[in-house]
Amino acid sequence: MSLRIAVSKGDGIGPEVIPEAQKILEHFLTDADFFEVELGLAKWEKTGSACSAEDIRELKGADAILFGAVTTPPDPNYRSVLLQIRHELDLYANLRPIQTLFSSDQGSPVDMMIVRENTEGLYSGIEEIGEGRSTTLRVVTKAGSRRIAEKACSLVLERNPDHPLVIGYKGNVLKSDLLFRDTCKEVAESYGIQTKAVFIDALCLDVLQHPKNYDVIITTNMFGDILSDVCGYLTGGLGMLSSANIGDTHTFFEPVHGSAPDIAGKGTANPVAAIRSAAMMLEYFGMKDEAHLVEESIQSVIRSGFLTPDLGGSASTAEFGSRVYESLSKK
Ligand code: NAD
Repeated sequence: MSLRIAVSKGDGIGPEVIPEAQKILEHFLTDADFFEVELGLAKWEKTGSACSAEDIRELKGADAILFGAVTTPPDPNYRSVLLQIRHELDLYANLRPIQTLFSSDQGSPVDMMIVRENTEGLYSGIEEIGEGRSTTLRVVTKAGSRRIAEKACSLVLERNPDHPLVIGYKGNVLKSDLLFRDTCKEVAESYGIQTKAVFIDALCLDVLQHPKNYDVIITTNMFGDILSDVCGYLTGGLGMLSSANIGDTHTFFEPVHGSAPDIAGKGTANPVAAIRSAAMMLEYFGMKDEAHLVEESIQSVIRSGFLTPDLGGSASTAEFGSRVYESLSKK
């Protein structure tokens, strides 16, 4: 049976970068059935719903989802589409690779993986909004911490078993993080993996100063969100970072960046993050060589000096995407 791939282009630069990623997927997944699911603010403005029950049903029916960022207005009445999907599809593991494609200030390439718990923490969605007092519940459970720790440990074994698993936490102030830290340590011990627990604020600086000291970093929901944007500095910016959201029955691939309203409609967004997210999907389907080919093609285009404005060039999104596609087709 052919694969069913849901594609949601999203808002802002989503409809500019996602087609470049879809083109790559279509090149390799020739038998797949691609179908569009509209989600996000533009849909909400038209229909009053940013993500309906029917949309969730469609997403659940897909073998994988390619997702373009959606705009989330800071409005108490607007429910985050991403939180809704991550919860309803139980996409508990957010994997965010941080890999430089070209030499950064630090010299040789950086290669690490941020493993972010994706369904709990401060993004629990449990909130009480009041006139004089508003609260958001930060949820940490043993079961939630255990399953994400297991995912992180399997990545340590795959990538570099001699490297400690770094736990980013803030247990000195947030006592809920002690449960997270201790559960991660317990799971790591059962895998024979060393751990190093580091306070998240110090980690945000050290990871920039000594990125080579890190391989797999595990952390809670909001910390992981922030840490990966911080690490964008190492890779050339947010236009370079891809991610996979993995659950036990559903998967969802998306750039780390948002809908970038400041550059939307100009056709200048960097599509690398979206294309790399497509490569992560190929890898998920067991197509490691094909995923590697996509990375190589991106690298060769970048090395040739053909760059989008965020990297100092003047190539458009579509021109850059076409160069990657051409390079890929020649290999
Ligand atoms: P953002 O990631 O959209 O933009 C931050 C900065 O990075 C901007 O200057 C933007 O121009 C730049 N940038 C981002 N992606 C780029 C790319 N591919 N190429 C070149 N430059 C790029 O973050 P923000 O401005 O904080 O958020 C904008 C909107 O996106 C908000 O509504 C936010 O809620 C939403 N958001 C959505 C997601 C998602 O759906 N996955 C993730 C983050 C933010």
